[in-house]
Order: sequence, then C-alpha cells, then structure tokens
Amino acid sequence: MMMRDQVRRFVDREVVPFAEAWEEDGKIPRDIFRRMGELGFLGMRHATEFGGTDLGPIASIVFAEELARSGFGGFTASTLVHTDMSAIHITKSGTTAQKQTFLPAIIRGEKICAVAVTEPDAGSDVARLRTRATRDGDSWVINGAKMFITNGVYGDIIILAARTDPSAKGSGGISLFIVEKDTPGISTTKLSKHGWLCSDTAEIGLSNVRIPAENILGVEGRGFYAIMETFQNERICIGGICAGESAKAIELTLQYVRAREAFGGPLWNQQAVRQKLAMLAAKSAAVRQLAYHAAELSSLGTNCLREVFMVKALAPEVLHEVVHGCLQLHGGAGFMRGTAIERMARDARVLTIGGGATEVMLEEVAKRM
Ligand SMILES: Cc1cc2nc3c(=O)[nH]c(=O)nc-3n(C[C@H](O)[C@H](O)[C@H](O)COP(=O)(O)OP(=O)(O)OC[C@H]3O[C@@H](n4cnc5c(N)ncnc54)[C@H](O)[C@@H]3O)c2cc1C
Repeated sequence: MMMRDQVRRFVDREVVPFAEAWEEDGKIPRDIFRRMGELGFLGMRHATEFGGTDLGPIASIVFAEELARSGFGGFTASTLVHTDMSAIHITKSGTTAQKQTFLPAIIRGEKICAVAVTEPDAGSDVARLRTRATRDGDSWVINGAKMFITNGVYGDIIILAARTDPSAKGSGGISLFIVEKDTPGISTTKLSKHGWLCSDTAEIGLSNVRIPAENILGVEGRGFYAIMETFQNERICIGGICAGESAKAIELTLQYVRAREAFGGPLWNQQAVRQKLAMLAAKSAAVRQLAYHAAELSSLGTNCLREVFMVKALAPEVLHEVVHGCLQLHGGAGFMRGTAIERMARDARVLTIGGGATEVMLEEVAKRM
C-alpha cells in the first residue's frame, strides 16, 4: 500500500530524529500536525468534500501500525486520538454545517482534537459519568470534570460526553458536544505520566461552560452508543499500535543481540536468546493477523464485536510480554533512560488500561462465547 510507505518515510525522516526532544518538552510541535495534514494523513476517515480521502478501517490500522513503528507511543497516541478517536465523531454523526465548520481545519492539522469521556469517578464504567449539560435558550451550559484527556492541554476542540437527562439511568441520557477549548469556564491541568511523555494528558474542569445549542453532536441522549461505536475503531487502531510497537521492539533487539558479544560470540548464538525472540515474533504475528482480520470484517460492515474485543484484550498483553522480553535481552542498557526499548516498555504499559481495560474486554468476549 502506497500510504504505508509514505507514512513510514515520514516517521523515519520527520519523527524519529526529533521525537526525543518532544518527549523532553512534553509537547509535539504544531508544525508536525500541519505537516501530517499536508501529507493527507489526518483526513483518511473524513469525506472528500471536507478535504479528506474517505478511507476505512484498513487505512486506520495501517496508519496506526506505521506510526507505532516510530517507537514513540506518545506521538502515536496523540495523532490517533485526533484522527481516529475524536474528530471521527463529527464525520459519523455531525450535521453538514458542523462538518463544514470544523472538519477542514482538523484535516489540515490546524486544529487538534480530543475526546473527553472519562471522569474522576467514571472510567471503565462509562455510564457513571456525571458531567451535566443543561439547555438554556440557544445554549447548552456544561458543568463537571474530565480526567486523563489526551490532547486536552494543547488541543483546540473537545468532543465531550455529558449527561443531558439526569432522570435517565445508566447509559441513557448521555449526549456528545463539540466544545471549543477556548470557551470561558474551561480549565486544564497537565498531568505527569509514566510514559507517553510527548503526549499531553489533562484533567479538565468545566464551570458554566456555555456553548451554542447547535454544537450538540448526533441525537440527544444517544451519546453512549456513539461512544461505544467509536471505541470499536479505537480498539482496532490499538491492535495496529501493538503490532507496530512489537515489530519495532523485536527488530531493535535482534540488532542488539547480534552485535553484543558474550561467552565467545554474539548473544544470538545462545539458543535460549534466539528461541525467546522467535516465540515473541510468532505471538506478535498472530496478534497482528487477528487485528487485521477485525479491521477487514469492520471494513466489510460485518459484525465483529467479538473479534475487536479479543484484539483489545490480547494485543496489549502480548505487547507487554514483547517489550519486557526485549528489554531483558538488552541487559542493563535496557533499563537506562535514552534507550529506545526502555521508553517503549514505559509507553506500552497504558495500553492494557486505556480504551477498555483487559478485564473489561475479557468480560465482553465471554458474553459472546
Ligand atoms: C495516558 C492516558 C490517556 C487517556 N486518554 C483518554 C482520552 O483521551 N479520553 C478519555 O475519555 N479517556 C482517556 N483515558 C482514560 C482511560 O480510557 C481510562 O483510564 C480507562 O477507561 C480505565 O478507567 P479508570 O482509569 O477509571 O480505571 P477503573 O475503571 O477505575 O478501573 C481500574 C482497574 O480495575 C480493573 N477493572 C475495572 N473494571 C473491571 C471489571 N468489570 N472486571 C474486572 N476488573 C475491572 C481494571 O484492571 C482497571 O484497570 C486515558 C487514560 C490514560 C492513562
């Protein structure tokens, strides 16, 4: 696929040589988003009339896999939240006017997008969310708090979930809104993390945030179902991330053990070392196939909930095994800041939690057995 080669070239030339500095700054330069916009990377899931290329889940998984091969999980996460987890809601359920207003700048990488579902007291159990949106004339007024929001500090547009009908129980009465970050009443606190250092993560306070009535996204009260649907795309992307990061970790480790001498030859000469890497390569290949299978079913419009839950349950767990196995084979060097595998092991940690914790995903698989 031409797009795969193009993304790989971009990652090798314009990301890898610079991203260590972004990690130190805790910030990805805006020019990089604009450059990805120029290259057409940010519009793959949006219609051509707004500047996109209208591709499907296969494009998303290829893009995710190639970004992940950078070995910088924070860069991968911030980009995919923008392309595949937030703005995609506007394309899926926005009005023509909303698409005309917001999509062109998002696709050009001029405005960066976040999605705010999680709250201090509602994570895996999305139906517990309490942020409240109240209709007041031609506005909605939003009060509440959001937690762990990727692109929440430096982003410009938030796709935000809030409760519009407090009498509706559980998953009912939740709606989505397009909220511009510079609206008065929004405060953000940048959180300090274990990994994904170049990606900004925010706690967001919302105090009497007044937005135009027309910024409700999709059908009032149906937000929970829109969130769940988009989660499926996010989880396919996470399968791609795990495939890309695993492949990169194994490549780096192969180079290392072939060059590193001990006990009369390169470490690769030790059968236990070779077999360890061979097994990790086999497990990674199996996970990659499952993820691409789910993306293919999704692109055909076939029900693939079970497969997608399987991908999200399995791929990050296998990635943990891969990065820690690879770190082990780097010896002490693997524990040192500045080694790619050290960063990759930190970055991988969150993937069994975000986008649906492994345990929650396994329950969903079990329901479908
Ligand atoms: C770096 C980062 C970026 C994020 N970005 C975003 C974002 O952009 N937007 C957004 O909305 N959210 C975001 N999140 C939030 C993320 O989706 C949540 O952290 C995740 O859904 C888990 O919610 P929680 O942290 O509240 O954990 P909890 O729901 O409190 O769960 C804690 C742990 O309990 C276990 N557990 C939970 N439920 C069950 C169960 N039913 N059975 C068995 N075990 C269970 C799991 O091990 C889980 O990890 C981000 C999180 C992180 C860390």
